[in-house]
Amino acid sequence: MNNLTSRSTAAGQGCRAAAADRLRHFGVSVTRPRVAIMEYLMEHHVHPTVEQVYSALSPEYPSLSRTTVYNTMKMLAEHGAVTLLTIDDRNLNIDENTTPHAHLYCTRCHRIHDLPLQGVSPLQASYAFTLDGHLIQQVHQYYKGVCRECQTDLNKEPLLTNKQ
Ligand SMILES: [Zn+2]
Ligand SMILES: [Zn+2]
Repeated sequence: MNNLTSRSTAAGQGCRAAAADRLRHFGVSVTRPRVAIMEYLMEHHVHPTVEQVYSALSPEYPSLSRTTVYNTMKMLAEHGAVTLLTIDDRNLNIDENTTPHAHLYCTRCHRIHDLPLQGVSPLQASYAFTLDGHLIQQVHQYYKGVCRECQTDLNKEPLLTNKQ
């Protein structure tokens, strides 16, 4: 599935440097596991779960635990370096794209897709603002439904069953 992210040494080092820069940018002290986690997030724009990040990195970092990955995500979110999504009832998903945007959770393929915000500009959502007298500090727009790709698959299904 992720065969586009093949690891050439030069590209790997470039990404590692970019990941370290990003941690520093958000005021996070740089450690090897943190760089590995950030590098993974920057290479996989699929809103991975803690489990997916842990499984991907544990062969290279055997000392890494699920708890470390989870605590690192919490810490990165507190520094504003990632956003934690609670759109999926069963999993916490991590978003490395911190530009405010909406999400669609597909009930068929369980993937999370990015969408533009509705009714609030990304700039407005980046700062606190008042709404009906309330102070809004974060905007999370979650949609649930069937994604475009899955609708295409559903439309193809009668053709596939006819072939049997
Ligand atoms: Zn889908
Ligand atoms: Zn996203």
